[in-house]
Amino acid sequence: MRVMVTGGAGFIGSHLADALTARGDEVTVVDDLSSGRAERLPARAALHRVSVTDAGPLAGVVDAAGPELICHLAAQIDVRAAVAWPARDAMANVIGTIHVLEAARVVGARVLLCSTGGALYGKDAPIPSGEDVLPLPESPYGVSKQCAEQYVNLYNRLHGTAHSVLRLANVYGPRQDPKGEAGVVPIFCSQVLEGKQPTIFGDGNQTRDYVYVADVVTAFMAAAGQPRPGVWNVGTGDEVSVLELAGVIGEIAGRAVEPMLAPARPGELQRSALSTDRIRRDLGWSAATPLATGVRAVWDWIAGGAGDRASA
Ligand code: NAD
Repeated sequence: MRVMVTGGAGFIGSHLADALTARGDEVTVVDDLSSGRAERLPARAALHRVSVTDAGPLAGVVDAAGPELICHLAAQIDVRAAVAWPARDAMANVIGTIHVLEAARVVGARVLLCSTGGALYGKDAPIPSGEDVLPLPESPYGVSKQCAEQYVNLYNRLHGTAHSVLRLANVYGPRQDPKGEAGVVPIFCSQVLEGKQPTIFGDGNQTRDYVYVADVVTAFMAAAGQPRPGVWNVGTGDEVSVLELAGVIGEIAGRAVEPMLAPARPGELQRSALSTDRIRRDLGWSAATPLATGVRAVWDWIAGGAGDRASA
């Protein structure tokens, strides 16, 4: 299959590019390398340094590569940067998605949009949050992802396409940039490895749904094999507090981790976990990696000196 991965030089995208290449797909990557790194990519993936905000060059690459499927992961992912520069966030995440949808329309490619569950449902959502919960995002990033989803759904109605949306929980794993939604895992691992005391903002009881990157890759593969359009959460359904996470890292380190508590950050959600009933039912997918196994992989990656996040 010919597959394009936008954002393919990034944390999640590069793992996806690896897996697609390994199963024999012809992989083209579009990435502006704003946070991605070319060295992460498998040799057989063709990299085009193009921004999804540049409609003409993007259309040219899509036209030449002729993908049957576009996994659209390129995005501005920093929630605090989105608060500071909301127009820049919308340019990448909304306008960029429209350009991808338009380029896909010309070549007849299906699109899998990489969205967010953690930043979408809002602070009053039931836990675990199902896909039918009314999104009430707390940040411009959540709004731009919601808006991108609306365009995907609109294209399905307007043009009869079969594009789908994957709403990821807090993804962690090797190659991760600490600025992302689940940056706490590499940050804590690095600090503990350096003998530092990690800082928790708030009382440490805030929860997240941590899903391992290899499981996110298998969710993309499962969605790629489903010809019908859908909107699916990709998570574990489990709530894990920051204090519990520190405990898991302490077990790997072989000593107690005692974090410092600092004032909570304004706007931070207290609880987040995604219901996975729909993806289990529709795609037969569920997360397979236990938290301790995934966190150990991040620990080993950082301890092995790959913490410059260039490769793993
Ligand atoms: P990442 O920053 O490592 O990857 C994003 C990639 O997109 C980078 O390689 C970057 O260079 C590229 N990019 C950014 N703007 C671009 C543009 N305008 N044109 C082309 N390329 C561009 O982050 P990630 O964590 O791998 O995120 C991948 C996707 O997953 C994003 O869509 C993000 O919103 C989504 N997501 C991530 C998480 C998480 O916990 N990491 C959770 C939910 C959703």
